[in-house]
Amino acid sequence: MGINHAARLLRLAATCVFITVAACSTSTERIASATQREADAGGAPTDATRGELLRDSALFLNARGRDTRCTVPPGPVVVRAFVHARYAVAWSTPLNCGGTRVTSGWVSAADVDYQDAALAPLLTRVAPSPSMGVNMAYAGNKIFCDESACKIAEPLYGKNRCYLAPAAAMALQSAAAAIARSDLSLRLLLLDCYRPVDVQIEMFKRVNDPVWVARPTAPRFGGHNRGVAIDLTLERNGAMLDMGSPFDAFSTLSNYDSKVVSAAAHANRTLLRDTLIAAGFKPYDAEWWHFYLPIETRAMNFPL
Ligand SMILES: [Zn+2]
Repeated sequence: MGINHAARLLRLAATCVFITVAACSTSTERIASATQREADAGGAPTDATRGELLRDSALFLNARGRDTRCTVPPGPVVVRAFVHARYAVAWSTPLNCGGTRVTSGWVSAADVDYQDAALAPLLTRVAPSPSMGVNMAYAGNKIFCDESACKIAEPLYGKNRCYLAPAAAMALQSAAAAIARSDLSLRLLLLDCYRPVDVQIEMFKRVNDPVWVARPTAPRFGGHNRGVAIDLTLERNGAMLDMGSPFDAFSTLSNYDSKVVSAAAHANRTLLRDTLIAAGFKPYDAEWWHFYLPIETRAMNFPL
């Protein structure tokens, strides 16, 4: 793709963003406006970061994630250019989007498998591996449950995928390697990673308690929205270790230093905590499962 063609595409895309920003809700207006400012800033797309489009990627027609599902054909589709490291604007093979063949548009940076995780612009996918399972709790339909009911019974994510800021993904890989070195039958099990701002807003609406769900306040929102926080536990031969309370049990039982949980459960919490701290993460004392990398990144709203 020539530079002139790329610049035309960029202008076209920026126009789409502007129309959408005018119509979007106040809750995510700041995010959309920030994206608009970036688009306005212009500049030629860069092809410094290359990767392959994931099979069930969504083609974005604007920065708010109003998307068109396109069929990604068999074989690799190489992403050739990015706008501000955030959206791909061209790919190597036409995609079938409702009968139309499309070779350019916007696709979330999160829908690309990067050839080198260190080069991923904002978020990188953490793939399941022998030392790390991926079971995103909010891709299921039993969310924030107690004995009697669940606060949310619809999946909040469309995909069971973990994305993190590249630095957090790399720190997590080192934690997984350390756990495997300590005991080959153990592995990390990831329960939540990057979380779109819109999902944070929905969660806070249902729970309305900043101890358990970070208040969705712009511009920083929460660690999950910035791709630096993870919720996780330990698993042995496919079974989660006893941590003394279930994931997302919103009670003092979930506090790391709860005196009510068994000594065995406390030891499991401590093993998880020590492993994550050694890899550079900070714990959150109210929730045994939540850790974050103390770096500054920006909140994002790519849908999952
Ligand atoms: Zn968390």
